[in-house]
Formats: sequence, structure tokens, C-alpha cells
Amino acid sequence: MDKEELKKLLENLNNRVKEIDNELASIATENPLVRGDFNVRVEDVGQSQEDAAQEAGELDRQQALVNTLETERKDVITTINKIKSGEYGRCEKCSTDINPARLRAMPAALFCIGCAKKTRF
Ligand SMILES: [Zn+2]
Repeated sequence: MDKEELKKLLENLNNRVKEIDNELASIATENPLVRGDFNVRVEDVGQSQEDAAQEAGELDRQQALVNTLETERKDVITTINKIKSGEYGRCEKCSTDINPARLRAMPAALFCIGCAKKTRF
């Protein structure tokens, strides 16, 4: 990938982090002790048993979404740091350059296609 393409990718990734942060902020609160760890805000919908059950189901769904966003956020930030340090596009296993076509399709790819195939089970 050339510099222009990396610059664009970096922009996209930074925007994605902002999007994720906004999504997370709307449904969750960051753990003040652990950065990047989010927990769903608990909103009390009612006192009855039915309300409590509904609330619990909703919480589970939202926490699952929060966990997905958290993981994506971590991956995106890892990718951003790699671009900044110039390590981006190198396979974490065998250190060869990852095919640019693969990176375009999967910007957060950590491994070259060969190593990715070997680690898949
Ligand atoms: Zn490799």
C-alpha cells in the first residue's frame, strides 16, 4: 500500500473509533479503572418480576453488543498504532508483507494468507 492509501485508511480507522465511542457512550459507561472496558448502564424500568426479567434480557443483549464493539475498538486501535509505527501490513507470524489486496479487504488482518490458513481450524 502506498502512503496515500495508508493515510486514507488511517482516517477511516480514526473515524471508526469515534463511531464506536459514540455507540458505546450511548449505551454503556467506561470502567473508570480499566480504560477500554465498558459496561452497560443499568436503567431501572420497573419493580415487578416481569419488568426485571425483561430488563435482564435487554441487558444481556446490550452487553453482547458492547463486547463486540469493545473488541472491534481494540482491533482498530491496534491497526492504527501499527500504521503509525510503520509495522502495518507485516505478517505477525512470518514477517512477510501481507498482500495489499488482502489488507484492502481486511484492514485489520494480522497474518498473511499463508499463515492465516495454517492457523484456521
Ligand atoms: Zn505469514
